[in-house]
Amino acid sequence: MPTRRSPREREIRAIPKVELHQHVDGSIPLRTSWSLMTRHGLNPVPTLREMRRLLQVQADESGSLLDYLDKFHFPLWITQFYENIQRVTRDIVEEAYGHGVRILELRYSPAIHTFAGLSLRQAIRAVLSGMNGAARRHPDLEVGLIVISMRQHGPHIAKIVARQAIAEAQHLHERTGVVGFDLAGAERGSPPGLFREAYEIARKGGLGVTVHAGEDEGPDRIWEAIDSLGADRIGHGCAAVLDRALLRRLARDRLLVECCITSNRQTRAVRPEDVHPIFTFLEKGIPVAVCTDNTTVSGTDQTRENALLLERLSLSGIEAIHREAAAHSFVRRVPAFTERRGQIAGRPARPRPPRRRSGR
Ligand SMILES: [Zn+2]
Repeated sequence: MPTRRSPREREIRAIPKVELHQHVDGSIPLRTSWSLMTRHGLNPVPTLREMRRLLQVQADESGSLLDYLDKFHFPLWITQFYENIQRVTRDIVEEAYGHGVRILELRYSPAIHTFAGLSLRQAIRAVLSGMNGAARRHPDLEVGLIVISMRQHGPHIAKIVARQAIAEAQHLHERTGVVGFDLAGAERGSPPGLFREAYEIARKGGLGVTVHAGEDEGPDRIWEAIDSLGADRIGHGCAAVLDRALLRRLARDRLLVECCITSNRQTRAVRPEDVHPIFTFLEKGIPVAVCTDNTTVSGTDQTRENALLLERLSLSGIEAIHREAAAHSFVRRVPAFTERRGQIAGRPARPRPPRRRSGR
């Protein structure tokens, strides 16, 4: 039965969108997880309804980044196998396409998908293969993978993961490849500076680099991501609103902040009484992207996240955000893809001024 949509929802859905921060593990459509779990006899509860509670943040849960990360255990049960990874990725891409996403960067930590014997390379290839499968059906969709290194695995593993990521870099391959490198996991105890060498490998290998920073730690971590790791973009970056010099730096160097409104509320990165930082970023001329983070864990999608902006922005204002974000997508930095015509005509990324070590 077709779902009934309001005219406003249809308008938002129709905007060509740029998704730059979406995790594979947290975005597997509920029905896909359920089908794979029941097929392999892995479902810990008897009904889909109960399973939803385990996979999606609930209104009655306390709310912290650690509670949020708890929702990522079950997806790992099914995503240790090549075909399953392919399948979940394909379904995620299809769902995003249905919400009007035309440039899609998915991100994924290959190291946590090797428990059943896949190599890092196979774990990366499995996602790329799923993305290729879905992209073939939609010539107007551009996709790319950001490889994540988890903070808790430490700086040494990060270097190993970075080397695998550059081996699968987009510019070395005909089809979808790795376009970016990222650092994720609980921020406390693992400052970005520790991962400098891994980021050097990724940058020299031609990847765009982004860092989860300023989500459960302060603005210093964002400075560090920029100055020590050479971040092109910042994931979440909520704490930047506390530091005016940092806001100026983000605007000056055109460093895009990947904003995830619903997720930030759920993890308390943004307090319920506060306006979301995305509006401050926009006022200060900082490029932003509207991102879902984890569609399943957060119970959201691109249509919903954009609808949240209508509180202060017009539809044309929202369209402009996506046009600008296109110019910051790592997919678009890759020569092979710039030739292709996507639906979103973003400006080519501007050359950045040379980095100064002390940008404050
Ligand atoms: Zn994230």
